[in-house]
This record gives sequence, structure tokens and C-alpha cells, in this order.
Amino acid sequence: MFGEVWVYAEQRQGKLLDVSLELLGKGIELAQSLGSDLASVLIGDGIENLAPELICYGADKVYVLEDSRAQLYEPNLYARLLSDLARSNEPEIILLGATALGGEISAAAGARLNTGVTAHCIDLYISKELRLIHVVPWLENKVMEIICRRNPQIATAKPGVFLMPTRDEKREGKVLRIPVEIDAEEPKVRTVEVNEEKPLGVLLEEADIVISGGWGLHSAGGFEPVKTLAGILGAAVGGTRPAVDKEWIPQDSMIGQSGKTVSPELFISIGASGAMHYTTGFSRSKVILAVDRNPEAPIFDMADVGIVGDLEDILPYLIEEFRQARKAA
Ligand SMILES: Cc1cc2nc3c(=O)[nH]c(=O)nc-3n(C[C@H](O)[C@H](O)[C@H](O)COP(=O)(O)OP(=O)(O)OC[C@H]3O[C@@H](n4cnc5c(N)ncnc54)[C@H](O)[C@@H]3O)c2cc1C
Repeated sequence: MFGEVWVYAEQRQGKLLDVSLELLGKGIELAQSLGSDLASVLIGDGIENLAPELICYGADKVYVLEDSRAQLYEPNLYARLLSDLARSNEPEIILLGATALGGEISAAAGARLNTGVTAHCIDLYISKELRLIHVVPWLENKVMEIICRRNPQIATAKPGVFLMPTRDEKREGKVLRIPVEIDAEEPKVRTVEVNEEKPLGVLLEEADIVISGGWGLHSAGGFEPVKTLAGILGAAVGGTRPAVDKEWIPQDSMIGQSGKTVSPELFISIGASGAMHYTTGFSRSKVILAVDRNPEAPIFDMADVGIVGDLEDILPYLIEEFRQARKAA
């Protein structure tokens, strides 16, 4: 008999994040493989109305922890509430979105529960020994499979990694209100206000066209033609880890395992070799166009259209061609 599979349901200002619903889709598969139930955990204030939605997306049970002091996210408090609930209910697995918040809560809850956390999984399945296999990208386009010998087995996955399950309005499940105890000394740090940063330009996750640049652009200035091309196409601009590490583009523009997952109609990769840590961030794009001077670059294994050549020659050509095509359209 196995413990439940849990999905931590991340909500912001009373709105569920898609990643939590996507994790429910994966959670259904894992719970079926173990013959256990799928449950979801909601923490906040005035959020019980979200429980039926989680049931429609696959949860058999929803634990609701409501308290006015938990209205705004506070990492230590949320992690303490989640780990206390886990201690008393002994789930087998806990899945969280690999968001900024999910990353914090998973790490803090893992430490409190003295168990392991595998971040940024690109797949999850149950082994023959009935343990959770956490699949993460490794080097040279290989994957690494990780097993945690302790329970609960905690994993995070980024938005867009798993498919959204079908919503079924007729599904039935239980909603369990859990009494929340927060003593006067807790939390030591209090969130007083939440201000969301307004994105500049087209949002990466919502763009129909994404252009992403890599180390091959050589400098921040190397991104200028990429931005020009993005302006012509109405595209969002992203990039690889080296481009972000060098601060050629903002931190939140990174595509890949440690960055964002996108699935646009058209993804244009410019001067990036195609490491799996990067390609996992856009593998579900409809059409992938890649430009690189190395014909052996792994990016061409997944590209629908590949252009081999030096960016100095190719970029001006692409800008002109797309400008003309836009004018003609
Ligand atoms: C745990 C972990 C997580 C990671 N997460 C991420 C992640 O989320 N996102 C990410 O991107 N990386 C991530 N990485 C790093 C990743 O493994 C690669 O190192 C990185 O993606 C390489 O970036 P790149 O393709 O820009 O650089 P390179 O691999 O150096 O490729 C540069 C490419 O540019 C081409 N080039 C150079 N000059 C020109 C020119 N003039 N004209 C045309 N082509 C040219 C070269 O042929 C080459 O193919 C992670 C690594 C680890 C270990």
C-alpha cells in the first residue's frame, strides 16, 4: 500500500498556475502506477473555491490550509505548513512547479522532511521497484535518472514540461479543511505586499515567435540584429545560459532547463549549439529554425529548417528577407 501522490497547487492572488494543473496530469499517471490516490495541497486565504478546479483536473482529494496570516506567500511558513501536513499524512511523492516559489518551498520542505528534492525534471515515471524516477538533462545530450531512497520523494518541473490534462467537470473528489496553527512568533519574516514586475515587450511564454541567441553572438551588441529581427516579426527575445551569464540579455530571458519553457509557432535559434539543457526549453515549438556555423551542431538534429553559415552573413540576410516578406504580407 503506497502513500498518496501530492501536487502542491500554486496560486497567485487566488488564481491557479497552469503548471500545477500540468503536474496533476503527470500525477494521475504516477498515482495509477502505484495504485494510490492523487491529492493536491492548497495554502493561502480565501482559496477553498479553487479546490473543485483541482478535482476537475484529476485530484481525488484536496487539502485546504487557509489562514489570514498565510494570505501572502512567505517561504518558511508555506514550507512548514506543507511539511507538517506531509509528516502526518506520509505521501509517497510531492510534485511542485519549478517556479521561483515552488523552488523555495520544495527546498525548504525537503530539508524539514530530511529527504531529497530533484529540481527541474523533464520527465517522471515509476520504476519496476515502484520508486519515482526523476529524469533530468545531463551532459552531451544524455539524461540522468535519479532515485530518492527516502520518502516523500520530492520533484519540481517547469511550466510547459507536462501536458495539461483534460478538464472533466463531472469528476468528484473530497475537500479536506485542515486546521492551521500559526503561533504569534511565526513567521519571522512577513510579506507585506506583492508587486508583480510588468514585462517589457512581448512575453516569452506567450509569444507566437521566439528568437533565441547563444554564445555565437559574442557580445551584448551581437544581440542588436536579433532584436531588430524580433521587432520585424513581433517576436520575443530569449537566449542560452552563456548569453544570460554574460548579461547580454536579462536573467529572466533564459530558455531551457534552468530557464523558461516555451512552445511558440516558430522558434528561431541563433548561434547556439543545442545542448539538451537548452533544447528542453523549446522542444514543443511547432517549427524550429536554427542558424549555426557548425554543421555538426546538435541543434540541427531537432531543427525543422537549418541554415549553416556565419551569423555575420546570415543575420543581415534574414532581416532583409523577413522585412520584405512582412511588407508584402
Ligand atoms: C544543470 C545545468 C543546467 C543548465 N541549464 C541551462 C539552461 O536552462 N539553458 C541553457 O541555455 N543552458 C543551460 N545549461 C548550459 C548548457 O549545458 C550549455 O552549456 C549551453 O546551452 C550552451 O550555450 P550556447 O549554445 O550558447 O554555447 P555553445 O555551446 O558554446 O555554442 C555556441 C554556438 O555558436 C556557434 N557560433 C559561434 N560563432 C558563430 C558565428 N560567428 N556564426 C554562427 N555560429 C557561431 C558555434 O558553432 C556553437 O554551436 C545548463 C547546464 C547545466 C550543467
